[in-house]
Amino acid sequence: ELVKDEDLEILSDLGAGNGGTVTKVWNKKRNCVMARKLILVDAKPSVRKQILRELQIMNDCNSPYIVGYYGCFPVDVHVGIVIELMDAGSLNDIYRQNGPVHIEVVGKIAEAVLHGLIYLYDVHRIIHRDIKPSNILANTNGEIKICDFGVSGELINSIANTFVGTSTYMSPERIQGAPYTIKSDVWSLGISLIELALGRFPFTDSQGNEEFSEDDDDDDDDGVQHDPDATLPLNTQKPNLNIEKDKKEKKEKRKSKGVSLAGGGHTMSILDLLQHIVNEPAPKLYSKKRSFPQNSVVFIEDCLYKDPNQRKSPQDLLATDWIANSKVTQDDLKAWALSTIGKD
Ligand code: ATP
Ligand code: MG
Repeated sequence: ELVKDEDLEILSDLGAGNGGTVTKVWNKKRNCVMARKLILVDAKPSVRKQILRELQIMNDCNSPYIVGYYGCFPVDVHVGIVIELMDAGSLNDIYRQNGPVHIEVVGKIAEAVLHGLIYLYDVHRIIHRDIKPSNILANTNGEIKICDFGVSGELINSIANTFVGTSTYMSPERIQGAPYTIKSDVWSLGISLIELALGRFPFTDSQGNEEFSEDDDDDDDDGVQHDPDATLPLNTQKPNLNIEKDKKEKKEKRKSKGVSLAGGGHTMSILDLLQHIVNEPAPKLYSKKRSFPQNSVVFIEDCLYKDPNQRKSPQDLLATDWIANSKVTQDDLKAWALSTIGKD
């Protein structure tokens, strides 16, 4: 039995992205909390119906590594999608509030995402297309799951028409116009894992010279403020402690004039960034402040070969030592997830 809009009572905001807003809701019929995402869909009724039909595929996506789906419906100019509430939020929220994620936990995140990608592809022939920290969610049961995959071709089309959806987790071959393959998702995973382990988006002007400030009181100018969807800060920006507000303002800006190219002088435009991804060597898992196990460094390299044929497949990546020999248990992940919540 699918969830309907009238079953839901609004509780609180969970976050907002380019195309939509996510709200924590109470399901009166089932007596439990859920997450409702509203996506603005600027399309005629026939297209909206088609989208709702296509979204039903999510009903058949049952995996411990995929965020659960409960139903979808039209809500005036939006499409509403009700999904499982992940009470520790996205990995993007988690690292922005808590700093870099411990490398052993990053390994378990990699494992969960790979299992999710393999499930989607092997069972449903779906390629995710949008792997990034905000689409990897965690809960206090120690589970890690992926969401926002490309199930509906019509939805992808109509969102692409309403905003500039160029993502900087995009692989070099995708930027150059090659079709999506599961290898493009592997690239995006590699970029996301570096971001989590370093606590900052990995592309900078001089590779690896900047660090997220782990100390909130740190006055050094080494903190990097970033919004990977919009601009690439190069240096000398103070850590941004008001990320949510700033994010909202940026999103507003973007809504009105497409991608905002910051005029501050210390930022690179989205086009410069795309060019950088295509022309420069891939980023590496490297930090001046911390060292990482060699097998994690190699794993990331295997995700980030610029040639998709050299890049490892999800199955091969699951078999690497870093993943296969991890000692982190679900209880450890539970403790980790609990430690990340409630310290805003
Ligand atoms: P973009 O629109 O650029 O892809 P995004 O992924 O952040 O960015 P949304 O998918 O709209 O945008 O999600 C907004 C935020 O809502 C996420 O960053 C996350 O913090 C939160 N969120 C989304 N789904 C859930 C969920 N099922 N449980 C808890 N929080 C969620
Ligand atoms: Mg998302």
